[in-house]
Amino acid sequence: MGKPHIVILGAGYGGIMTAVKLEKMLSGQEATLTLVNKYDYHYQTTWLHENAAGTLHHDRSRIPIKDIMNMQKTEFVLDTVVSIKPEEKKVKLENGELLYDILVIGLGFEATTFGTPGIEEHAFTIRNINSARLIKEHVEYNFAMYHHEDEKNPGRLNIVVGGGGLTGIQFLGELVNRIPELCEEYDIHKTMVRIINIERSPTVLSDFDKQLVEYAMNSLESRGVEFITDATLKECASDHVIYEKDGKRVEIPTYTTIWAAGVHANSIVEKSGFEHHQGSIKVSHDMRAPDYDDVFAIGDCAMIINRDTGEAYSPTAQIAIQASDTVANNIRALIQEESEELETFEPKLLGTVVSLGHTDAIGDILNNRKIFGWKAALMKKVIDNRYLLKLGGFNLLIRKSKFNIFN
Ligand SMILES: Cc1cc2nc3c(=O)[nH]c(=O)nc-3n(C[C@H](O)[C@H](O)[C@H](O)COP(=O)(O)OP(=O)(O)OC[C@H]3O[C@@H](n4cnc5c(N)ncnc54)[C@H](O)[C@@H]3O)c2cc1C
Repeated sequence: MGKPHIVILGAGYGGIMTAVKLEKMLSGQEATLTLVNKYDYHYQTTWLHENAAGTLHHDRSRIPIKDIMNMQKTEFVLDTVVSIKPEEKKVKLENGELLYDILVIGLGFEATTFGTPGIEEHAFTIRNINSARLIKEHVEYNFAMYHHEDEKNPGRLNIVVGGGGLTGIQFLGELVNRIPELCEEYDIHKTMVRIINIERSPTVLSDFDKQLVEYAMNSLESRGVEFITDATLKECASDHVIYEKDGKRVEIPTYTTIWAAGVHANSIVEKSGFEHHQGSIKVSHDMRAPDYDDVFAIGDCAMIINRDTGEAYSPTAQIAIQASDTVANNIRALIQEESEELETFEPKLLGTVVSLGHTDAIGDILNNRKIFGWKAALMKKVIDNRYLLKLGGFNLLIRKSKFNIFN
């Protein structure tokens, strides 16, 4: 191979961490590195629920790419990927195209609506900085409208969250912290606000230990969340939702539905003709796409199979960050022609901590150790801060860290 062109699509956890590592591993004589992203900043997807609830300003969750990457070594292309043509080693962008020798696909996720009528048109999703900011503004607008209208409309103060997984629960935790402030600001009595979670399974956080789930539900209920489990959201309109439980359809007036009931890989993967499973590329042990030795997939675009159970790992930021080591090492090995055999990626699951607001959380960490309350909340902030340290060292940690542990 001459001087190869490495193109990384997406500056999320998987993409930017791979880029940062390659920038350090390879000299400019060995390869040309291009990073493509829709925005000129990297954002912390795992903090977006805080931005959406309005408990953390969105500027705290984003970092300009020029502050992370060395722009002398990496070419940054601010553009939107439209499609990939792997046979031609080409990426089509909204404003041009790129040819690659080695490609990394890290374009993240999109919401899965399961064809539920009205979700696409009327529900909000927590996807990126823009969608999070919109949710925050929309909730405030409806609180402001409540006293502005002559005829009082309870739907303005009802907030429905569809889905009780990691995203839905963490958003609820932030929202219940935010509501008292909003009530004070807009002269609304707290008892007039309803926050409703609709979950299809018999319980929220169904992959978690029962004791932790019970703790999480009690904590959120005590702060005003109504859980409706074993119920399916059937329809969403601009001013109401309909759910079905025990064969009965029930309507809730609301202008704010947040859909957090499922995600799939960016649809560009499927549209570009890669062999996929439910939209993600089922990567081989070395993180490459089947049939394409020059294409790696990472993060929510990659499906990684647990070789012990045969099941796919749920895609998480934790796995995306870990996989960036293997992807970067393997790209270096290909370029430096070090070995035919590339490194195998095996996630080392360190557990999951679910935030329930700034001072409360639950966690299942390191060999099924359960943690609750402020200890878990502290652990969550340690995890967030550790990532900043990995990404941009002490400088970034000091500028963006979550040191506000007890408020
Ligand atoms: C609210 C919320 C909370 C979460 N909490 C946790 C948690 O606590 N722990 C955990 O491990 N996981 C959590 N997750 C899941 C985690 O965020 C994802 O698994 C992770 O972000 C995947 O990383 P990624 O690199 O694949 O994509 P992302 O981090 O989503 O990044 C994708 C990047 O691609 C860019 N992009 C997208 N489309 C295009 C395009 N067409 N052209 C150019 N650029 C594009 C985007 O701008 C973005 O920069 C959470 C998710 C959400 C939504």
